[in-house]
Order: sequence, then C-alpha cells, then structure tokens
Amino acid sequence: MPESKKVFIKTFGCAQNVADSEKIRAFYRQSEFTEVDGWKKADLVVINSCIVRESAENRVYGLINEIRKARKAKKIIVTGCLAGLNKNKKIKGVDEIWPIDNFDLKIEPIRDEEKAALISISSGCNNFCSYCIVPYARGREKSKSFEEIIKEIDEAIKNGFKEVVLIGQNVNSYGKDKNSSFSKLLEEVAKKPLEKISFVSSNPWDFSDELIETIAKYPNIDRLVHLPLQSGDDEILKKMNRKYTAKEYLELVKKIKTKVKEVRFSTDIIVGFPGEDEKAFQKTVELCKKVGFEIAYLNKYSPRKGTVAARLYKDEIPQAEKKRRWKVLDDLVNQK
Ligand code: SAH
Ligand code: SF4
Repeated sequence: MPESKKVFIKTFGCAQNVADSEKIRAFYRQSEFTEVDGWKKADLVVINSCIVRESAENRVYGLINEIRKARKAKKIIVTGCLAGLNKNKKIKGVDEIWPIDNFDLKIEPIRDEEKAALISISSGCNNFCSYCIVPYARGREKSKSFEEIIKEIDEAIKNGFKEVVLIGQNVNSYGKDKNSSFSKLLEEVAKKPLEKISFVSSNPWDFSDELIETIAKYPNIDRLVHLPLQSGDDEILKKMNRKYTAKEYLELVKKIKTKVKEVRFSTDIIVGFPGEDEKAFQKTVELCKKVGFEIAYLNKYSPRKGTVAARLYKDEIPQAEKKRRWKVLDDLVNQK
C-alpha cells in the first residue's frame, strides 16, 4: 500500500475561517491524506487566510516564505479571504488559489472546537464599512437555507454537542435574501435540546425588536451579546459608513437591557481611524463606560488597499498614539 500523503491546515482569522477549516479537514480525510500538526512534516499545506488588517495579511506571506525557503511542502494552497481577493491572480510561492467558503463544502465537518459547534449560516457582506476589506474578499451576502442549517445543527446534537455558535459576517441580517429572518431561525434553534446558542457578529442596524423578544423568550440563548461599536463618535461613525449614531447605539443597548435581564455585551472597536482626534476618542471611552462592555476586541486602524477609507483618508495617526488609545480602552474594559 502506498504511504498516505500528509496535509497541514493552518487557520488564521475569525470563526468563519475556523468553521471552514473544519470542513476542509473533513474533505482531506476523505481522500488519501492524513493530517499532520506542522508544515515541516507536510506534503501539502493549506493556508486559510485572513487579511482584515495588514499585520494579519503579513502573517500569511510570512508563512508562505518560510515554507518556500525551507524547501519543504511540495504544494501550497491558499484559501480564505486572500484567495477571495486574488481569484484570478497569482500569489508568489503559492501553487493554487482556492476561494471557497463553507457553502461550497457539502460535507460533515470534523470539529476542532470541543465545546461548541460552529455553524456558518451566511457568508459575505453588503455593508461596505469604509475601512473593511471583507465585502471585496467574500463577496455579497448569501444565506444558507433554513433546512440545511437545521440539518447541520441536528447532526451536531446527535454527535453530543450542547452548544452552538451561529456565524456570519453580518449574522443578524440572515435570511433577507430568502424571505426569512434571523429571529425566526434563532427561535427554531433555541427550541432544540441545546444549553447555549451564541451568534457572531451582529450589526446594530439589523438588531430587530423580534430578535430582542426571541432572546428574552429563550434562556438558552447566550446572554453575552456581541455588538460591534467601532467608534463612539458620530463623525467617525459616518466616515466609517456605519449606519448609526452613538446615541442610537446606546438606545439599542438600553432597549436590550430592559427586555433581556442579565444581558452583557462584548464589542469590536477600531482606534486611530483617520480624523479621530482626542475629543472623538474620548467619546468612545465615554460610550464604553456607559455600556459597561465585558470584553472589547480592539483593533488599530490599518488601511486596506481597495477600500473607500484607504482611498479617501490619510492614515495620519501615529502608531504610538494608536497603541496608547488601544491601551486606554484595554485597561478600561478588558483589565478591570
Ligand atoms: N462583520 C463583523 C466583523 C468584521 S471584521 C463586524 O461588522 O463587526 C472584524 C473586526 O475587524 C471589525 O469589527 C473591525 O473592528 C476590525 N477591522 C476591520 N477592518 C479593519 C481595518 N481596516 N483596520 C483595523 N481593524 C479592522
Ligand atoms: Fe466589514 Fe462592516 Fe461587513 Fe463587518 S459589516 S464585514 S465591518 S463591511
């Protein structure tokens, strides 16, 4: 019998990529490959890439260079966001570009996460926040069918999972293209024998009253709600093409807090977006205090080629100042 080929799968980035990699793993296990735990042992390396910030993109190129320099792995495949952006182009040192997402792989995943099953319910994004590369890399928003999602969840339950995380770039706008809605889907899932159902990432403008009612009605829906803020300053929010003001964000939080007792919030924030002066930054600080976030995922602004912000605004805030603002928020929210 010939020796089986060895594959190493490296995942960068968000939960969407982790979920995709769980299906990529299943795909290779079905063929003649065995999985190894490092690129040095592999014949094939599959890199599931993230390019949301320049530092993330550089980590992908760094790995490709390292493998090529060492003259290891015969073949490198890149998938994920860098592949989506380079569909018809070449990436130096890469043999194949594979712009897949969860939808393309009709396969039962081999799950990495032991506690919660990651269930991808939509992909892509139509929002075009001015700083963000995701709509260009992942394309327009598509929702997976209701039936397919429920089937995946039933399989996860059969396999012993008691927790699921529903994921999408814009998870709570699910179903708009299918005459359905996220709150309907969430309600169906909440009726299943599951102890905890979480969902990421929600956008404030798609957080409907029905969704709040659904969360309130089912105690197995996670009380930690992830609600990306990005900035607490209206001018900056406008330049970011976010569709709310600081006041509207706070009102939404208050409404959820009134209807869903024990709710807690986590968020994403960008510091150092062009034009963010000390006054604007302090508005973000103030809003963080008012909401009382449990966790904040803090990002230093990184211009991404092809986005509106990179075209229109100069990346003018010095790195040291971005770092300082990052630390102020980290101390305030994450280190308390
Ligand atoms: N769809 C989600 C997540 C998008 S990417 C959302 O709307 O929040 C995850 C996070 O990366 C974003 O929330 C944002 O805070 C950050 N991010 C995206 N583009 C960025 C950029 N160019 N520079 C710095 N942070 C960025
Ligand atoms: Fe990017 Fe905005 Fe879409 Fe999130 S909602 S993926 S930040 S464009």
